[in-house]
Amino acid sequence: MAKKRIEDGDLWVDVDLDLCTGAGECVDVCPEDCYEVVNGKLVADKIGTCIECAACDGVCPNDAILDHCSW
Ligand code: SF4
Ligand code: SF4
Repeated sequence: MAKKRIEDGDLWVDVDLDLCTGAGECVDVCPEDCYEVVNGKLVADKIGTCIECAACDGVCPNDAILDHCSW
């Protein structure tokens, strides 16, 4: 496991990029475009715009999104 926390102030997401296959379900579900896929891997540089709607809870088929401030 390669756990990595991406954070901006009180907003954060823990991901394991080894598990991410770039499928993009997280990109599709997020209303604030917090997630992107770049070169086949999740990038969450815009996590600071998260509105904590929790729509991304459980959406990753590979469980690459490990934890999130809104869950
Ligand atoms: S984190 Fe999960 S849902 Fe998002 S791009 Fe990676 S594999 Fe797909
Ligand atoms: S909680 Fe909502 S706004 Fe925040 S990253 Fe997840 S889907 Fe996007």
